[in-house]
Amino acid sequence: MSIRMSPSLFYHDFVVYPVLILSSLVLAFRGATVSEALLSVATILFGYAVWTLVEYALHRIMLHHVPGLAEMHKAHHDAPKALIGTPTLISLMAFAGLAFWPAVELAGLHLASAGMAGLLAGYLSYALAHFAIHNLSMGRSRWAPTLKRHHALHHYRGDERNFGVTTRIWGRLFGTFVQ
Ligand SMILES: [Zn+2]
Ligand SMILES: [Zn+2]
Repeated sequence: MSIRMSPSLFYHDFVVYPVLILSSLVLAFRGATVSEALLSVATILFGYAVWTLVEYALHRIMLHHVPGLAEMHKAHHDAPKALIGTPTLISLMAFAGLAFWPAVELAGLHLASAGMAGLLAGYLSYALAHFAIHNLSMGRSRWAPTLKRHHALHHYRGDERNFGVTTRIWGRLFGTFVQ
């Protein structure tokens, strides 16, 4: 779900998610042995990788083809610089109910927290990158203009391409990548 928001609501993600990521890291590593810590690091990377696929799938399937959500997302395509996004409370409930709770049941609090740290870091990267792509000048860094161009092609050269925002790998794999 994405809606047009006031600046104070829109920027909540950038405060709430860093705090949650740090809290998840504390839960993941507190009292851990070396081998448990290594497993947590691997799980963080796994959580981040899972996010990149979720980001691709959510955008390609939900935001472009599910009635209701597609109309909300079209508002972003029509006004890319507008503060349109998912309210923090909604994304928090989705992460808690669809990821954290099942992960705790499956793998216990330590590993679930590690996975959440990676997953939420992925979500925060996405939120920051998408905001920066549309609203900030990209300077001289190498990757930023590449991601900006990648996403610009999604907006302006037909919607059915380049669904990944932070990565291009899933588009290459699933045949939706153009450059
Ligand atoms: Zn966009
Ligand atoms: Zn789109």
